[in-house]
Amino acid sequence: MRVILLGAPGSGKGSLAGLIGAAYGFPKISTGDLLRDAAREKTPLGLQAAAQLGKGGLVDDAVVLGLLRERLARPDCRAGYILDGYPRNLAQAKDLETLDDGRREIVFLIETREAVVIERLSSRRICSACQAVFNVVTKKPSREGICDVCGGRLVQRNDDRDEVIAERMKTHRQKTEPLISFYQGRGILHRVDGNGRLEEIFSAVRPVLDAEIRVAEAFGKRP
Ligand code: AMP
Repeated sequence: MRVILLGAPGSGKGSLAGLIGAAYGFPKISTGDLLRDAAREKTPLGLQAAAQLGKGGLVDDAVVLGLLRERLARPDCRAGYILDGYPRNLAQAKDLETLDDGRREIVFLIETREAVVIERLSSRRICSACQAVFNVVTKKPSREGICDVCGGRLVQRNDDRDEVIAERMKTHRQKTEPLISFYQGRGILHRVDGNGRLEEIFSAVRPVLDAEIRVAEAFGKRP
């Protein structure tokens, strides 16, 4: 099973991926995290990504594909995985079809109002050490500015600044939204209201995922 989460930056893909992963035992694969990790570690692909990250546009398809290919080869992906932030344009959606093919796919489009998304992004903070995600309004750490998980310092992501948010939304509209009709045409797109609380979003996704897993099992295919 390959679960693809589509939605604007800040629509809740990452948090939802975390809940699905915990409930179904699938790893959450965020290409944004893969890129940031690679850039921090200064790997060859990371060095290529570093110049393009944080500006609101997309990193080159080949760089992202290289990182994703390495990640999907790890054994924890065998039973299934959740993609958060990939694909982000039509070329990537086509690349994905050639990767690991034969897997059942399910796509959730998280529909969140732009005002909600902007509010979430500008109030998001991440731990500079372990990357855990907090929110100064809805998910405050117990000690201000300090990560509850590891005690690291909480910071704002470079691309969560207002001027970069606008660029990310533009990139999303121009490059990523065409994927909606691509997956609709394949009959695997499910729309989910992303404006509510995370638990509500997860409750909407769950029955669809359960049904898909039952079908996969009934046909004796790998999930
Ligand atoms: P995210 O953490 O998903 O918000 O991604 C942060 C940034 O990483 C994006 O603004 C892009 O610059 C880059 N990025 C993440 N995923 C992709 C992707 N699939 N293709 C190209 N660039 C990506």
